[in-house]
Amino acid sequence: MFGVISCPKCKRVTGADLKYKTKKCGRCSYTMKLNKVRIWTKTSDSKDLPELIKNITVEMAKPSIKPLDY
Ligand SMILES: [Zn+2]
Repeated sequence: MFGVISCPKCKRVTGADLKYKTKKCGRCSYTMKLNKVRIWTKTSDSKDLPELIKNITVEMAKPSIKPLDY
């Protein structure tokens, strides 16, 4: 299972394999704990990740979105 997460430090949206406990941010190298960060959406197919990441990035850019509960 894969999850779409966003880095608490730099807000970069990225995909993570949820079988791991941590994911290192590709932009700021912050190590995210996957049980601590918000998982925006999940998918069982890694081929879906680029599309989902794009969608979540757009969602996050909207001013209407609620504050993130990290
Ligand atoms: Zn980051």
